[in-house]
Amino acid sequence: MNSSVNHPIISVDEIIRPTHLEINLKTLAENFKKIKEHVSPAKVMPILKANAYGHGLVRTAQLMEELKADYLGVAVLEEGILLREVGIKMPVLVLGGILGNQVPLFLKHNLTITAHSIEKLKQIDETAAQMKTKAKVHLKIDTGLERIGVHYYNAENFLDVSLKCKNIEVEGVFSHFANSESEDLTHAKLQIERFLEVISFFEKRSLKNPLRHFSNSGAILQLPEANLDMVRPGIMLYGVYPSAGVKKTVEVKPALTWKSSVVYFKVIKAGHPVGYGSTWQSDHDIRSVTVPVGYGDGYMRSMSSKAEVLLNGRCYPVIGAISMDQIVVNIENDSAYNGDEVILIGNGKKNSITVEKLAEWAGTIPYEILTSINTRVPRVYVE
Ligand SMILES: *Cc1c(COP(=O)(O)O)cnc(C)c1O
Repeated sequence: MNSSVNHPIISVDEIIRPTHLEINLKTLAENFKKIKEHVSPAKVMPILKANAYGHGLVRTAQLMEELKADYLGVAVLEEGILLREVGIKMPVLVLGGILGNQVPLFLKHNLTITAHSIEKLKQIDETAAQMKTKAKVHLKIDTGLERIGVHYYNAENFLDVSLKCKNIEVEGVFSHFANSESEDLTHAKLQIERFLEVISFFEKRSLKNPLRHFSNSGAILQLPEANLDMVRPGIMLYGVYPSAGVKKTVEVKPALTWKSSVVYFKVIKAGHPVGYGSTWQSDHDIRSVTVPVGYGDGYMRSMSSKAEVLLNGRCYPVIGAISMDQIVVNIENDSAYNGDEVILIGNGKKNSITVEKLAEWAGTIPYEILTSINTRVPRVYVE
């Protein structure tokens, strides 16, 4: 059923691998509601790209549909088609760049297209005419990210052309921030100014505004003036903040716990190196446990000899190189048994290991930690 997940559908009671993600649907729902209240009356388009930031595209989309979100956002066409195949009926915008030969599939599956050049508008218009349908598009304006979209200083002609395409419904117009999560908001504010100038196009011609949207998580938290008609929360929906310094004006909680279990216990003698490359050894005998998770699951190798895990309520260090499928944890003189729960991301009674911590150990950002958790790790949903 879910082509992006290559493991069988299983329930909590029959997890095949001890290594799995537990996703708390109640927390996800609460995060969504908090965002919705915060930006009201603006609409909300939860962003579900990259397997819903690791949380599972299909189940997250179903939840957002139950919660009556206004729109869904994904990055690529295939994510949109998958949502249609599993029966998601609500509007879905594909945010990424498109090629002309993809347009028939967009139309066939009733997916909203991001139009990011005049050439693409024309391709969409022609294809829609051939298929005797009307294409729904959102126009992408580049106000300072220099990625996709028509530059704000060339946008007028683009908007003009869009309105002349008979087989296109211009339902929305949007832009994307480069720095909305930073402490210095000068560039973000310049982007807002540019966007407002562009969209004054509609009012100047006494036309009804299309859906105007701009804000990602950073802007939702720090730039309420950019809410406009709709916002596009990604990472904060999952309970993770886009940066350490961002103003936490909405309280969200992490929805995901990454768990595994001890599968092996042994004593490692002083001077006996651990793991590939023999990068780590102790000058005294230690007790250790092996946990079946590795970089093949998205537990990044760059965290070798830096990461810690939670076991029986305490934090213990990962020693030696992280391998594809296994890690070794130093528990010194403590005890642990096969089957004991290991938390890789999540809360214990006293201690917790956050996505931010993993990002620090790996030298990356929380976004990459979440989206790197491989689909071979089963997702289990709890209420
Ligand atoms: C990813 C993305 C978002 C969400 O960004 P977050 O920082 O995760 O909130 C919003 N809009 C676009 C166009 C995106 O690509």
